[in-house]
Amino acid sequence: MGMGSADESGRFSTSNGQFMNMNNGVIKEEWKGGVPVVPPAPTTVPVITNVKVETPSSPDHDLVRKRKLGFLPLEVGTRVLCKWRDGKFHPVKIIERRKLPNGTTNDYEYYVHYTEFNRRLDEWVKLEQLELDSVETDADEKVDDKAGSLKMTRHQKRKIDETHVEGNEELDAASLREHEEFTKVKNITKIELGRYEIETWYFSPFPAEYNSCEKLYFCEFCLNFMKRKEQLQRHMRKCDLKHPPGDEIYRSGTLSMFEVDGKKNKVYAQNLCYLAKLFLDHKTLYYDVDLFLFYILCECDDRGCHMVGYFSKEKHSEESYNLACILTLPPYQRKGYGKFLISFSYELSKKEGKVGTPERPLSDLGLLSYRGYWTRVLLDILKKHKNNISIKELSDMTAIKAEDVLSTLQGLDLIQYRKGQHAICADPKVLDRHLKAVGRGGLEVDVCKLIWTPYKEQ
Ligand SMILES: [Zn+2]
Repeated sequence: MGMGSADESGRFSTSNGQFMNMNNGVIKEEWKGGVPVVPPAPTTVPVITNVKVETPSSPDHDLVRKRKLGFLPLEVGTRVLCKWRDGKFHPVKIIERRKLPNGTTNDYEYYVHYTEFNRRLDEWVKLEQLELDSVETDADEKVDDKAGSLKMTRHQKRKIDETHVEGNEELDAASLREHEEFTKVKNITKIELGRYEIETWYFSPFPAEYNSCEKLYFCEFCLNFMKRKEQLQRHMRKCDLKHPPGDEIYRSGTLSMFEVDGKKNKVYAQNLCYLAKLFLDHKTLYYDVDLFLFYILCECDDRGCHMVGYFSKEKHSEESYNLACILTLPPYQRKGYGKFLISFSYELSKKEGKVGTPERPLSDLGLLSYRGYWTRVLLDILKKHKNNISIKELSDMTAIKAEDVLSTLQGLDLIQYRKGQHAICADPKVLDRHLKAVGRGGLEVDVCKLIWTPYKEQ
């Protein structure tokens, strides 16, 4: 892992984003990069304490309440303090609101973004969690929001015009989905997958009928998803898969990697994309799962092969991308699996005899993982290599694209200009310092356990 600082949305200004997509329930795109590791530790964020909390027993409670009702329900865009799961108050911005099912006029719940935390911690909260004395309705903010929504309307219109050419009938659904993307309201709060219940991080464009579900139940093998536990139990009695569809191309100890062709296993690939989007932030492009191979990493035991994470890869990439989307599922994070997946993608490139690079933009956490991987691999070589070595040679040895080799070394300030020439610094002390900072890779890919031939159109 490298270092860096994230902006308010938790993304790095230099590079961010994610991939994957779908259109009208059919996945049509790919999410960009991203090895989400863990939400940034909220402990590093300034916490506002000593906020006066009104208690229902206070004598002037009714009076205060009446005054406040004047600006209820709160508007989208309002900034206010909100009680978080740590029991403390943090500043939030209201992203969306919705009426409670049996509520009266002012009974809303609010979808809030904690302005000092990553967006993956956005959530629905009840009015009681908001400290109404702290409400700010900033006039400038409103102008901004208006400009934003106008911009979106134009964008949507253009979208609609473009789509119309293809005779797409589902314009309203598409616009709605785009609005949801824009507002970033999480639709599914948690999922059940194998033996885990997992809280989700981001919006995912499930078909409309699933959008009112708080929780979805996934079959951990075929990745079909259902609204109710009983449906899943019924499904599990019938489902005969015990591992991902496709070919097992790697097995070492309890770890296995399966290669799934998106064209041959379309439903599986689409389900995987729905699932993955819950943990990956923004994605914009439209692709078809047919064009991708999916590499599913599993931990295997006597009950079957349980998905730990995956990455996807274009079958043919003009830009020498060797990875499109990468995800380690939350219960398996911080165990070195993200690094394993990155390393695996480069082992495939080596077998293909090509250099590769992840598709851009990378997510914040994806970029950190890549920086870490590149640093470890390149500096290990520099340490062992006694003679001069060029960027090209480093690239050929590692399958890391020359641009990435250069940017990694430059980022570490290891490229120096001496006597009219660029030179790579190979001072062992300096290299060791960087290697120590970046930590060890953990799980290694045992190349002799990889049995694979590059994809060929059949
Ligand atoms: Zn199943």
